[in-house]
Amino acid sequence: MIKTLKCSDIMPGCDFVVRAWTEEALLEKAAAHAQKVHRVQLTQQLADKIRTAIRVEQARGSDKRPTLSGLTAEGFATD
Ligand SMILES: [Zn+2]
Repeated sequence: MIKTLKCSDIMPGCDFVVRAWTEEALLEKAAAHAQKVHRVQLTQQLADKIRTAIRVEQARGSDKRPTLSGLTAEGFATD
């Protein structure tokens, strides 16, 4: 299962989406994005917010959600 975080859940107006296989990796990417784009340090409070906003995507093709191919977003195409 893929874990997804929409930045807009935390920073309204930002269309950045992070996807990762583990919560740890997701947090790491989200923290890097927050620092780089929003100039925000990852605090305990922010980490808690992020964890609350994480969604788990079922790996099924039955709905209209995009798959991993839609993963690339500014700054995080490679890692
Ligand atoms: Zn953002």
